[in-house]
Amino acid sequence: MTVPQITLNDGVRIPQLGYGVWRVKDDQVVAPVLKALEVGYRHIDTAAVYGNEAGVGKAVAESGVPRDEIFITSKLWNDKHHKDDARQAIEETLTKLGVDHLDLYLIHWPAVVKHGDAYIEAWDSLQQFKAEGLTRSIGVSNFNPEHLDRLDGTTPSLNQIEVHPSFNRADLRAEHERRGIATEAWSPLGNQHAPSDLDLPEVVQVAEQTGLSPAQVIIRWHLQIGNIVIPKSVTPSRIEENFAVFGTELSTEQVDLLSGLDKGNRQGGNPLVDH
Ligand code: NDP
Repeated sequence: MTVPQITLNDGVRIPQLGYGVWRVKDDQVVAPVLKALEVGYRHIDTAAVYGNEAGVGKAVAESGVPRDEIFITSKLWNDKHHKDDARQAIEETLTKLGVDHLDLYLIHWPAVVKHGDAYIEAWDSLQQFKAEGLTRSIGVSNFNPEHLDRLDGTTPSLNQIEVHPSFNRADLRAEHERRGIATEAWSPLGNQHAPSDLDLPEVVQVAEQTGLSPAQVIIRWHLQIGNIVIPKSVTPSRIEENFAVFGTELSTEQVDLLSGLDKGNRQGGNPLVDH
């Protein structure tokens, strides 16, 4: 199965469907990543703070899939925004992953609450890392427009933000579009805690209409509205299920139905309040 690719503003191409590994321990991440690569995922989303880069790297090495066929994202943690810390952080990330470059490196949070304007300095470092070939593309995560406005130089290739049907971020996605920044959706299933978007009656209704599962319906919605989407599962059957979303399309009415479910239901952190 070929996953569609999105061309980022720097020309780098990213598989639109990836595989996230937040909250999977280092010694437990190898098997699910191997399973994901076996199923056909070619895009893995990790971060230094997840503590599982070594396990991800082990799975990549053991998989037999050539490195240049796998798109690997990692992220700079909040207390590493200053120049020397950022340099040390990417070197540690590369060492743990066992690779000589990343495909995408993100500033994980602007982290203004605890670290003020340091994210602006971090962006200078990321531009330098890209120039040195340590990462093919650079972007941000959990940035609001006011944070994007403060960055000098290159426009981030993407902003990885919480998006799911009950928190659909239409305004921020439109702002990304205007700026040529791709939207990557974290917690795409809206399933961090109850009420889960997987249980929304409209999602269940579209699942019944299409023969897809609720998770597949939500992943199709992301794909069809243009998001890059990185669902996480450690369950082999769900890793397969979340990938089996090609060859079927939601109708325009079904997409619109899901796009109308926004309730401002943020499930994770808020960049203006947390971190
Ligand atoms: P997801 O929206 O991917 O949901 C994951 C949860 O849903 C897990 O409990 C999983 O269970 C369950 N699940 C997965 N597939 C199915 C399915 N088909 N049916 C029913 N349940 C399912 O949430 P995440 O918060 O993990 O977000 C995805 C990724 O986004 C992260 O792993 C991480 O890479 C990234 N992320 C980035 C953030 C950032 O600040 N930049 C913040 C949060 C996430 P199980 O694993 O037990 O199968």
